[in-house]
Amino acid sequence: MHLGSFEEKRRRLVEKLEREGYIRSERVKKAMLRVPRELFVPEELRHMAYEDTPLPIGHGQTISAPHMVAMMTELAELEPGMRVLEVGAGSGYHAAVIAEVVAPSGLPRDQWGHVYTVERVPELAEYARRNLERAGYADRVTVIVGDGSKGYPPAAPYDRIIVTAAAPEIPGPLIEQLKPGGRMVIPVGDRYMQYLYVVDKLPDGRIKTRSVTPCLFVPLIGEHGWREYEY
Ligand code: SAM
Repeated sequence: MHLGSFEEKRRRLVEKLEREGYIRSERVKKAMLRVPRELFVPEELRHMAYEDTPLPIGHGQTISAPHMVAMMTELAELEPGMRVLEVGAGSGYHAAVIAEVVAPSGLPRDQWGHVYTVERVPELAEYARRNLERAGYADRVTVIVGDGSKGYPPAAPYDRIIVTAAAPEIPGPLIEQLKPGGRMVIPVGDRYMQYLYVVDKLPDGRIKTRSVTPCLFVPLIGEHGWREYEY
């Protein structure tokens, strides 16, 4: 692999995220080293795939910045074998990173977990599906078209829920679909002020929330999110 190749750029980005404290575990590091982000961005932006910045993916949406993917994945404390719901598939990149942790390429398939990712824009769901297939994640990630603010009841309950669009408040159905002992990572707020929250459902069913950092996401549009006109 010659210097400046995607693989080399990926390695340098991962090292930078590690130095900056966004990547803290071997698991997340390995996952981000494996998933080719260049396959999840539009062709004409591939040269920017390893800049630490969000990039447009069409329909007014973005693929999140790598440091945000790293931070949310670390906060989720994923383990191999877990069942995860992602709300907001977008490009499919974050779902692939999650899949690399819960169903790592080296692990026997019968020990794999699974990622369900919901996307409200049908064209983006198709885009995510294509990207995931090309990158080799089709059998570890299921892409669903729909309103993820309602969760995805057919595969519930989930060990982890990761929401990649900002909600006005923590959607009730997502709390319901979390296993006792489960965790959700979710941005909450409006276009001016958002915070990333970690929501733990304790084994006895009580809910504990803490805000971690200010952040900036596109809105979660849906029944338990924003109405398009009010955002
Ligand atoms: N995780 C994505 C990735 O790796 O590319 C980035 C997601 S982007 C920041 C947020 C996505 O959430 C957008 O694609 C948007 O269409 C989607 N979205 C917004 N509201 C939604 C809802 N209620 N249900 C499902 N997806 C939603």
